[in-house]
This record gives sequence, C-alpha cells and structure tokens, in this order.
Amino acid sequence: MKHRALALALVGVLGACQATSQPAREPERKFLLERVDDVAIVRVYADGFERLTPRERALCWHLYQAAVAGRSIYFRQRCAEGPELLQLFEELYTHSGSIGARAQEEIRRYTKLLWVHSSPYHNTTARKFCLRLKPSELADAADAARLSGAKLPLREGESVRGMVERLGPMLFDPDHKPMVTAKSGSGGLDILQGSAANFYGPGVSVRRLEDFEEQYSLNSNVEVGPDGKLVERPWRIGVPTEGIEPGMYADELAKVVAHLEAALPLAPEATRRALEAQIRFYRTGKREDRVAYDIAWVADTTSPVDTVNSFVEVYVDPRGRKGAWQGIVSYEDPRKAEQLRTIASNAQWFEDHMPYAAEFKKPDVVGITARSIDVVIETGDCGPVTPIGINLPNDAWVRENHGSKSVSLANVIEAQERSASPSARAEFTWDSAELARAERWQALTHELLVAMHEVIGHASGRQSPERQGDPAQWIREHYSTLEEARSDLVALWFMGDPKLQELGLLSDVSEASLACYEQFVRNGGLQQLRRAPEGERLEEDHLRNRQLIVRWIEHRHPEALRQVVREGRTFLRVLDARSFRAACGELLALVQQIKSTGDYDGAKELIERYGVAFDPRLRDEIVARYARLDVPALSAFVFPRLEAVRDAQGNVVDAKLSYPTSLEAQMLEWSGRR
Ligand SMILES: [Zn+2]
Repeated sequence: MKHRALALALVGVLGACQATSQPAREPERKFLLERVDDVAIVRVYADGFERLTPRERALCWHLYQAAVAGRSIYFRQRCAEGPELLQLFEELYTHSGSIGARAQEEIRRYTKLLWVHSSPYHNTTARKFCLRLKPSELADAADAARLSGAKLPLREGESVRGMVERLGPMLFDPDHKPMVTAKSGSGGLDILQGSAANFYGPGVSVRRLEDFEEQYSLNSNVEVGPDGKLVERPWRIGVPTEGIEPGMYADELAKVVAHLEAALPLAPEATRRALEAQIRFYRTGKREDRVAYDIAWVADTTSPVDTVNSFVEVYVDPRGRKGAWQGIVSYEDPRKAEQLRTIASNAQWFEDHMPYAAEFKKPDVVGITARSIDVVIETGDCGPVTPIGINLPNDAWVRENHGSKSVSLANVIEAQERSASPSARAEFTWDSAELARAERWQALTHELLVAMHEVIGHASGRQSPERQGDPAQWIREHYSTLEEARSDLVALWFMGDPKLQELGLLSDVSEASLACYEQFVRNGGLQQLRRAPEGERLEEDHLRNRQLIVRWIEHRHPEALRQVVREGRTFLRVLDARSFRAACGELLALVQQIKSTGDYDGAKELIERYGVAFDPRLRDEIVARYARLDVPALSAFVFPRLEAVRDAQGNVVDAKLSYPTSLEAQMLEWSGRR
C-alpha cells in the first residue's frame, strides 16, 4: 500500500497540548512568529546541525537545494492553477508599493495561506479558501504592481483584466472546485472530477479506470487521449539513449536531479546508492527503479544525514494512488533515539501480543528501524505543514521483504509544543483531575503514542494467504483510513500494557494510559471537528480514523466511554481505562481482519458508519468554543536557512545555518524573488 504515517494525525493533539517541562536554555528563543487566520507560523530550530562534520553539512546544503527545487511540482499536483496563482501573488507581494492599503493587506493574508497550504486548499479541511477582494480590486492591484515591474502570469496577448477573469473562478467562487480531495463525491460528480487535485484529466472517472491498467500507478497523470482512449503521462525526465521520452515535470525533476548529483561525492556509500537509485527513478519513471530506490533507502540506516526526495504519500489523490512530491532533509537526533530503539528492539514481543488472530501475526517482524530526527527543511507535501512522524516506504512488498524506516521529527514536535496554547486543554477536560492528568502525562504519552504508531503500528500484521500483495488493491479508497486506524489502535492497545513499565518507558501505566485515552478521545471525538467547519462529513484520512475509533467505542462500549453534556458544553469521559483498552483491542482485531482478508465491504461499512458523518450541531458547538478560545487550528513551520561555504575553486565545503525572520522571507527566497 502506500500510505503511512502522516502525523497530521497528531498535529491536532499537539495543538492542544504543551510540554510540561520546558528546557531551560535560551528563554528568549522565539517559536511562534505570527498568526495567519487559523494558522500559527512557528519557527523550527536545528540545534544539532553544528555537531555534524563540515562534509555532512555541505551534503545537507545540496540536498536542501534539491528539496527547494521540487516545490513547484507539488503546487501543480494540488491544483492545475497552483503555479500561476503562486507567481501572481508573489509578484503582487513583492511589488505592492502602489497598491492600496486594504488590498495590500488582503494580498498578504492570501499569499501567506497559499504558501502554508501550497494551494488555495486548506491542508486539513481540504476546502478552498477565497480571496476577499472584488475582481476589479484585484485587477487594479495587478495593474499597479505591473507598473512597478511585476511579472504577471499573462498568456499570449492576454490583458490584466483577462487574466483576472480567467483565474477568477478559482480565486473568488467558493463553489468552483470547492475541494482538493473529495473522497466521497458529491453533486453526482465522480470523486476524480469532484476534486481539484491535478492527477486526472477531464473525462477520466473511477469507472473508466477500472478497465485501464496503469504502468506508472504512483507517478503519472491519466488523461483521455486524442483517440478517446485513456493515456498515461508519466512524471519523468526521460532517457533518450534508452528511448524513454521526457514526461510531465521533466524540467522540474531535472533541476532536482542536478542538486542530487552534486550531493553524490559528499554522501556516504549507503546514501550515495540510494541517491543514485532515486536519480535513476526520476529519469525513467519505472516502477522497478522506484522499488530499487526504496530498497536502497531502507538499507541506509546508519548515515547521520538522510533525505526523502520523491513521490510518496497518496492522500491528495482521491483514488489513493498518485504520489505527492515531497522533500525532507534531516539528521539524527540522539536525544530521543533511546525510546524508539527500545520499542523497535521489542517489536517481536509486541507482535506476539497483538489482540488479533494468530494467523494475521507476523512470525518474523523484519527490519523496523526507528530514529528520532531533526529536520533541516521540509517542502512539498511535507512543508510548511509537516507530519511529526514518518514511516516509509509505503510499498507493502518492500516493507515485508526489506523492512521500513520510521522516524519521529523531534525538533518539529518541540517547536509545536513550545508554541502551543494551554487554554484548549482546559476547555475540553471534564474536571480538574483530568486536567491534572493531562498536564502530568500528555507530553510523554503523546510522544510514546506517535512512536508506537510508527514503529510497531504500521509494521505489524500480515495478509491472509488468499489476499497477498498490496492490501490497498482490495480496500481501495478506504485503505489509508483503515491503516491509520490500525496503527493508532496498536499504539492505544499497548499504551495500557504493563510491559511499557517493564521496559522503562512509563513509570505508571494505569494513570498514564488513562491520560492518553482521555487526550485521544477529546481530540478525535470533539476538538478535531473544528477542522470541518462546513458540511457534515469528514474527508481527511486521519480525521476519519480517529473519529472512527472514538465513536465505535462510544457506541459499542458505553461502560468505557460516554458523551456527557454539562451547561451546554459536550464532553467525552473515559469511564474506565481498562475497559477502554479492551475495546481498542476488540476493534483492532476487527480492523486487522478486514485488512488481512481484503474485506472492502467491511472497511466501507465501518468507516462510513463511524468515521465519516458527524453531528453538525456538535461541530458548531466546538467551533464556537474554539472561537472563544481563539487558538490556531494548525501550525506551519519556518525552517532554517542554509548558506554554502565554498573553497577557492567554488566547491561547497561546508554550510552555515541561520533562522529566517518570517515565513515570507523564507518563501520568497525559495522562489528566487528575494
Ligand atoms: Zn500512520
């Protein structure tokens, strides 16, 4: 399958929590830079960078350039108009001298949101946000900017007004392409045609794709060709000597590859092999080359510097097949490594103690590598809004035969916690005892929950003999939700296991697990509803999976979890941690069986019933409570800036790290506009 662990999942949880103990160093250090609508702009620090060798830092610099070079691919993947919108608004932003104050302010707001969400679509709600200007006001601003030298995305012979008219529906009309990813379809539209995500041409539907075998399932656009038949446009550079034509994104990928090639001489052997494999995949676009890259990347477990630069997660595609481009550069954070190693080295014990049928347990859990990393940069599908834990590769065959790498993004987690407001936690806890438990345990249990989700969650379980291979082929559009639920349930199940005390991971399992369960249900049953301000259905996989777990337990096990209303405010109360844990085990057994047996109908029934629909009155209540609290809904990150240090011949021999003052400073530099 190709899913994995976007901890978008847990960003919501973190938004509501704060580390109970704060490191003493540099109290003046600034994490929260500003608020833009519902987004907190947060600065990430990379303290360990200085401990790398000059050669490793120079390697980071090249990989960083490669991560910057691919950003435009993701903008175009999220919506076809993305690159033009970005160009237009960055040009307005940087040529705003003679634009009126009100229009200027709105252009700044909208441009920042474009950067944060890499499109006009919100990262978690998947809904479009609009420009709050009249078309005539935008045209006036564009005219003024053009006179100051702005390069607008005008087509051949097009006037400024013509451009505003052409882009108008995307900018001003909330009903024009309202969702980036609409997994349920609505208004009689096929899910592909109802989504703005740019993977399928006009006329391509799920039904038509059923009779079409894609050669480049992860990395192509599918369109209706001139003869009316479906054709694939693979994303690749091309290899003329092998008769492989250039494909979509050839220019962008060539720029990425130029930086990856420059990194090769500085990379340790294992990293070099992975980079060479990735370069080959970018050239040919072939599945076997992508598999070779996955295998080489998984095999590289010891190099301090690592990168993911590829087409990876499939959440943006309503069909769950096409890989969104992402770039990450990181180095190992030794501070958190111990906890992850402890969990990973006991992986077989955990597998043996899963609450599901023995036939679905792995007799040999292969190669789970867990590391704690500090990121230097994340782009595309991973930035500025980032996961906090990652488990790759997604290819089920590679995972089973070569293992997977699991990382938790330590400096991102820290920045998120240090910038968060404690007020939301107090609002949604039932009483002072629950609040005290949250304050005492939440930072620790949350970290542990993420670690177990990534390290033993996704890695666990096996397919039944009749349903070998990639389970996504059976579970289809519900697969990501099901798999995220499964991994969360594994983590919740073991959170209450005395084994964690024995391993030295928790000092008091019974109180800590109660605090963890309370946090999980507050978020998955109540707080996350603010991410769906409109409609009556959840779309995003992680939102669905968490609500599924909470509402299934509430419905099936009233002795474990109950919803209570007090003075007009709704709460979820975990009545008994042991019963709650038992309920998690029962649901995990069911979810595992659905996955292992490829039971599409079972997945659909479970997810549609508990994970998708919600009570809009409850959502309105949550939104109103949050409005009173005025806390951001999600965080977007500003990453460090790297500057090359060159020798007399111009070779990059080291890199210096500094911290940009603002989101716009970083984004405009990456776009080459500053
Ligand atoms: Zn996951």
